[in-house]
Amino acid sequence: MIRRALLAASHSGGARRVVETAPFARDVARRFIAGETAADAARVTERLTGEGLLVTLDVLGEDVHDKERAETNVGTYRELLERLHAEGLGSRAEVSLKLSAVGRALDEELALDNARRVCEAAATAGTTVTLDMEEPEAVDATFRTLHELRRDHPTVGAVVQAYLRRAEEYCADLAYEGSRVRLCKGAYAAPEAIAFVEKDEIDKSFVRCMKVLMAGKGYPMLATHDPRLIEIAEALTLLNDRDAGTFEYQMLYGVRPQEQRRLAAEGAQVRVYVAYGRDWYAYFMRRLAEKPANLRMVMRSLAPA
Ligand code: FAD
Repeated sequence: MIRRALLAASHSGGARRVVETAPFARDVARRFIAGETAADAARVTERLTGEGLLVTLDVLGEDVHDKERAETNVGTYRELLERLHAEGLGSRAEVSLKLSAVGRALDEELALDNARRVCEAAATAGTTVTLDMEEPEAVDATFRTLHELRRDHPTVGAVVQAYLRRAEEYCADLAYEGSRVRLCKGAYAAPEAIAFVEKDEIDKSFVRCMKVLMAGKGYPMLATHDPRLIEIAEALTLLNDRDAGTFEYQMLYGVRPQEQRRLAAEGAQVRVYVAYGRDWYAYFMRRLAEKPANLRMVMRSLAPA
């Protein structure tokens, strides 16, 4: 119920104005966000990679409805990639891209062309791109774009959301040699007709998907903070005789940082999803929706001292 309300609020202009101008909300959001500029992102990336972690960087600014903003986002990604290259971070940091940030709402072809330009900049910087997966209505278009991009850039990563009833089928289609696939639970509102809604159903789907990906020939990227699922992933590693270099764990910046370091210290590859930029509202609301305790933290910060 709270989750639903927060996800609905993530699209509301009124709620955005209240949260963005609320004292301390920005400070609470900072727990999940590296900062507002590329320099902030590069600083955090340098620190995390120095600690043995990998990074994927997300430029905040989704749900764009005009060509100019889509173009600005492409430019920001390209500048970021040039900076990663110049600072020698390309081998340990990639970028995550939302097609809604580069014009999907305007035109699928425009978003494809823009995403292609980001992929080209990533290749020049010695790294790659993962296409984030957004609302259920965007899934088919995102997979179409992914397959187009993979013709020239086969390392572009896909994302499968385990809450979708078709998730296992998507994983089976994507578990081929060289295919990088992030598996996550799913952070958007999705109707019961096409998605599991109960936590245990979503978790079971995640396990079924993990089994397919870990037994397959691709490169699984297991994006979860859930301790039970991480234990099952560890068992599947042994069962499928997988080396640490053939898959990775992924977690969000600001969530379970000790667990990120524990897994890395045990020899696993761990990639941290680092978001940055001024347009933090929708990303922040999804983080609140994932854990009600985060919302209590915001409410406390809003209360008069
Ligand atoms: P949960 O059951 O939600 O959480 C398990 C435990 O993890 C919680 O009990 C808590 O201790 C901790 N935890 C989880 N979330 C938080 C939080 N926000 N704050 C504090 N503690 C928390 N979703 C998409 O729909 N599309 C994407 O492209 C996408 N990319 C992602 C990339 C990465 C690297 C990660 C880690 C997640 C991504 N997600 C994406 C979000 C994902 O779908 C989930 O919403 C999110 O990861 C929470 O699910 P969980 O597996 O951690 O399990």
